[in-house]
Amino acid sequence: MEKLIFEKSSEGRKGYTLPGLDVPEVKIAESIPADLLRENELRLPEVSENELSRHFIKLSKLNFNIEEGMYPLGSCTMKYNPKVNEVTASIPGFANLHPETKPENAQGALRMLYELGEAFKIITGLQGVTLQPSAGSNGEFAGIMMIRAYHIDRKDDKRTVILMPDSAHGTNPSSAAIGGFKVQTVASRPDGRVDVDDLRSKVDETIAGFMITNPNTIGLFEEDIMEIGEIIHGCGGLMYMDGANMNALLGITTPGKMNFDCIHINVHKTFSTPHGGGGPGAAPVCVSDKLVPYLPAPTVVKNGDKYDFEYKEKSMGKIHAFFGNFSVLLRTYTYIRMLGSEGLKGVSENAIINANYLLARLRNDFVVPYDEKCMHECVLSGDRQKEIGVSTKDMAKRLMDYGFHAPTVYFPLIVHEAMLIEPTETESYESLNQFADAMIDIAKEAVETPEKLTNAPLNAPVKRLDDALAARNLNISWFSRK
Ligand SMILES: *Cc1c(COP(=O)(O)O)cnc(C)c1O
Repeated sequence: MEKLIFEKSSEGRKGYTLPGLDVPEVKIAESIPADLLRENELRLPEVSENELSRHFIKLSKLNFNIEEGMYPLGSCTMKYNPKVNEVTASIPGFANLHPETKPENAQGALRMLYELGEAFKIITGLQGVTLQPSAGSNGEFAGIMMIRAYHIDRKDDKRTVILMPDSAHGTNPSSAAIGGFKVQTVASRPDGRVDVDDLRSKVDETIAGFMITNPNTIGLFEEDIMEIGEIIHGCGGLMYMDGANMNALLGITTPGKMNFDCIHINVHKTFSTPHGGGGPGAAPVCVSDKLVPYLPAPTVVKNGDKYDFEYKEKSMGKIHAFFGNFSVLLRTYTYIRMLGSEGLKGVSENAIINANYLLARLRNDFVVPYDEKCMHECVLSGDRQKEIGVSTKDMAKRLMDYGFHAPTVYFPLIVHEAMLIEPTETESYESLNQFADAMIDIAKEAVETPEKLTNAPLNAPVKRLDDALAARNLNISWFSRK
């Protein structure tokens, strides 16, 4: 096991030098209230610059990452972070801009935000936009709060229920519940789509809205979406689209054409920004005319050739400090400007072709729960392997030995032993084939040498962990270990 940086520490060793002080010294104890001062020395590792960079480079090599290989995670998308994004994100005029800068001194930054917002309005076919939310889930919450503000503003306060299909992503019920709504689920039909009859039996004047992912979480297009919209609008509710699967729709159709009033877009899923690590993200939310007055404040507006902020009177409030995660939005803007509208359409066309290619190559070796063409991702079931004692989890772990990250597993919940696979548009024919070959080999191993799967990973730096023990007895603190 690699030592912790604290264990490499040696007293008095330094990895930096600072220039001499050329301003009057301020005693910290005098400038900070006594009750806010720490009582003990801050315990930081003391290492040289070389030790520091070697330590983190070593750790980074233990991680799987998109610069190293394909990861077929479904409903999670970006497998590609273009380097040009980093070039624009480090332009000093953008990178060093203080968020308190007055609008008249930040016209370029405001113009970028404005143009990005306009691009999202075209992409979604909707009328209003906010760039503030910092993740898909945060965008959902903003959307739910706007839906709430809309009903309250109309004095329609008996609308307490948000409906959603039983295939919904976990963040959907969470956002609705945190927004103060009751969640009611609608059944899926055997073909994986919303059961419209079940939906019809559940609508009344308590329905605030309906949340749905389209294509849905099993990678299928909801063909009854127009009818669903009519039913929900007919009872006075609003339509929320979870845009995590926009990768299948870019330039082909829009949520605006499908009766939606609100959609969030995960830029780390569709617009090339880095995904994971819990770092800053962004999820622009686009809304129909009905919700424009309630958008989070401020929005960016264009007056003549000047850009400014606008604070709408009925706004739901703020959802993020300042204006959102600016440098993430800048990367998004770069990607959209690099591709243009034809390029964006190509993204979806290729994502769909790639997913269908994988489905065709894997269909004989795995159970295919919904046997039809898919959109940008496909779902398989490990049921056949489970019968002979090998679970989807075992196969996911074994994929690491083949140099791949696992697909999304055990989601969507309505599929047994689910594997949700999304190659995206940026994987080549060769890398798709390498992945399919690995999956087919693993299906063979499940029959011939199942212990290779149940003990996997065999080659990873960390072997199979006891996840039940880890959950019950989690100890990740160095100080408490000593
Ligand atoms: C990823 C995802 C979300 C949540 O988005 P985050 O940006 O991870 O918060 C919501 N719904 C679906 C279908 C998703 O795939």
